[in-house]
Amino acid sequence: MKQKDDITITKEIAEEIMGTDTDFLKVAGNNIFCVNCSHVYSKNLSMKIDKYQLNYLGDIVLIGTCIKCSQPVASYIEAGEDPNKFKRAKKYIN
Ligand SMILES: [Zn+2]
Repeated sequence: MKQKDDITITKEIAEEIMGTDTDFLKVAGNNIFCVNCSHVYSKNLSMKIDKYQLNYLGDIVLIGTCIKCSQPVASYIEAGEDPNKFKRAKKYIN
């Protein structure tokens, strides 16, 4: 099976998929480090999010720019592991 490309979604769609898990942006922000300059993001989300993407597994990928070196940084949210989140994500995955 050919792996489908990630699709770009809006912040509102990401929030809809995450449902009651409203802290997801903060949590994701605590789990990022920049592979280019090794800057570690903690406590507050200091990564500027440029794009929200959804992959074929129902996982959300936050793509942003490192505040220190301006290289792209990404944070992966395994929303697809949760059956309820996957159900909501599914309608956006074709
Ligand atoms: Zn960096």
